Amino acid sequence: DAAINRIAAGEVVERPASAVKELVENALDAGATRIDVTVADGGKTLIRVADDGCGITPEALPLALSRHATSKIDGTDLLNIHSFGFRGEALPSLGAVGRLSLTSRAKGHDAAEVRVSGGQLGEVKPAALNKGTVVELRDLFYATPARLKFLRTDRAEMQAVSDVVKRLAMAEPHVGFTLRDASGASGKGGDARVTFRADPETGDLFDALHGRLASILGREFAENALAIDATRDGIRMTGYAALPTYSRGAAVAQFLFVNGRPVKDKLLTGALRAAYFDFLSRDRHPAAALFLDCDPHLVDVNVHPAKSEVRFRDPGTARGLIVSGLRHALAEAGH
Ligand code: ADP
Ligand code: MG
Repeated sequence: DAAINRIAAGEVVERPASAVKELVENALDAGATRIDVTVADGGKTLIRVADDGCGITPEALPLALSRHATSKIDGTDLLNIHSFGFRGEALPSLGAVGRLSLTSRAKGHDAAEVRVSGGQLGEVKPAALNKGTVVELRDLFYATPARLKFLRTDRAEMQAVSDVVKRLAMAEPHVGFTLRDASGASGKGGDARVTFRADPETGDLFDALHGRLASILGREFAENALAIDATRDGIRMTGYAALPTYSRGAAVAQFLFVNGRPVKDKLLTGALRAAYFDFLSRDRHPAAALFLDCDPHLVDVNVHPAKSEVRFRDPGTARGLIVSGLRHALAEAGH
């Protein structure tokens, strides 16, 4: 029922950036090696995500748009999830809050397209596409003006979109990303302005992450970052942390991941701050890209579908690992 879908959709899609997050995560789950994101007017009028992943067969297209249809989990072990998605809510939610078109081509199949508007599913039609999937979402929240009113300026929404793309780009350095702003552009994105670009990185995760760090935070930052690898009671922390001299005036340069998912979590950012406490004044923020990995049973990363909080079974261990691991690295670097 369209009304129920719209209400549930609001839980998943709060603003353009949350739509972009869901679509990019789907592309990553599909094994994409390149993901192109185009938005116009802060994502309010257009969000387009194109990938070169596995694609969807014509028969499966309507299924992908129906509620709680996910191809990613069989329901036996909700904790052991290795893909980003598993709820089967994102595409139907987006179809309920905007005009959605889904075009896809799976290996050995013809390309096909289906449109949804206001929750009404159209027919599957032949389309032209070489590989992968293109999802286009136009006029987000056009049917719910109350929600539209809560969105911030185009500039602020674009900033949030950019933040989401950069966090996922940091999480997946082997995947190439571009972000384009098509505001005011007429054609199919051809004259859209590239606002962020990160070519696919090669090598092991440390090498790849180092390259990605340079594309996102700058070469100087990457060259002066400390490599981190520490373990405590079943949690491993890897990545890079800045020397205190490369701290930032804002917390935007903190990239934290738990079991591969970007998180923004007070416990973790508090621990990061505590590790640098002796070196930074109150208005400076340590820059870092840190991955915490542990048995999925030791942490809940799905507290809320649209948020990115985590709940460790033993928060003290996570905090202690960050504080002592970073202090150790800083001490070895002469601080
Ligand atoms: P979930 O990601 O939780 O499975 P979604 O609503 O985001 O649910 O997507 C529904 C289904 O559509 C996915 O399980 C997947 O099979 C398919 N799908 C969505 N996006 C893509 C994509 N970019 N490439 C391939 N398949 C996709
Ligand atoms: Mg999904």
